[in-house]
Order: sequence, then structure tokens, then C-alpha cells
Amino acid sequence: MSEKKGQGLIYECIRCGAKVAKDELEMRGGGVKCTICGYRVLKKKRPPVVKRVLAR
Ligand SMILES: [Zn+2]
Repeated sequence: MSEKKGQGLIYECIRCGAKVAKDELEMRGGGVKCTICGYRVLKKKRPPVVKRVLAR
């Protein structure tokens, strides 16, 4: 699995559940840290993938 920069990787804070974009962390200095509560343990999430679901 490779990571591409600027592809909208999202972290989710395990403490408050806030979603923080990797781009935003980099703008703030590159450290992984919740922008809401300041907690440093974030889970990596993939950006939501829009799936086509057949309604019928
Ligand atoms: Zn948080």
C-alpha cells in the first residue's frame, strides 16, 4: 500500500473522534496531533470512497 501526498489522507482522533486532514497537520508543522483536543494518538483513515449502490 502506498501513500500519495495530497491525496486527502484523514486521521481520526481516538479520543474525541475529530477528523483531521493530513494536509492540515502538515500546514501546522507536520506533527500528528488532533486539532480539536490536542491528543496525539490518531488513527489513519482513508477518505470516504463513494460507492455506487444499486438502488434497484
Ligand atoms: Zn481529539
